Amino acid sequence: MSVHVVEHPLVHDALVTLRDARTAPELFRRMAVRISLLLAAEATRDLPASPVTVQTPLGAAEGRRVSADVVVVPVLRAGLGMLDAILELIPAARVGHIGLQRDESTAIASQYYSKLPSGLANSVVLMIDPMLATGGSAVAALDHLSQAGARDIRMICIVAAPEGVEVVQKHHPGVRIYVPAIDRHLNAHKYIVPGLGDFGDRLYGTL
Ligand code: URA
Repeated sequence: MSVHVVEHPLVHDALVTLRDARTAPELFRRMAVRISLLLAAEATRDLPASPVTVQTPLGAAEGRRVSADVVVVPVLRAGLGMLDAILELIPAARVGHIGLQRDESTAIASQYYSKLPSGLANSVVLMIDPMLATGGSAVAALDHLSQAGARDIRMICIVAAPEGVEVVQKHHPGVRIYVPAIDRHLNAHKYIVPGLGDFGDRLYGTL
């Protein structure tokens, strides 16, 4: 199953605040951090870990430490709103950036920036892009990551449209998508309905 619909009540509590048109950028940013943290925890449930032993004040305790190399790749600009939360959770993660610009009239994505860490073939790659709308920019970013060698890619989104999920599944069936809400449809301007509006604009107050 490549689509994981995250049902955690705290995720949905944050999501409804993000959706609310009255939410100002300050609170929007805080909720973006909170929801990203919870979604990332879900997307990393099966990270490989190695056994370790530490000494507590009372004796030896067995534990596990994450042994995977994790690379987080925000899709600019909206994905940046999710990055700090994930680094809080996985401080050793390496970070790549992909810049995609959506033509507002055609909704076609073109890449204007890319900087990725090396050795992606052995990493767990978390691609973060809050709105999976047409799937055009997601597929462009996933194509780019695959060409760079990434094999274990997990996409973390906050709201998706059915159209976008279908397109990603068609082009990248091996990519797991973690998302709490798959909304009704896209409107004529390729915005998700009901969605939450333009994520980047709401995050940065550029409406
Ligand atoms: N990007 C957004 O920020 N919102 C949408 O609804 C679609 C794409």
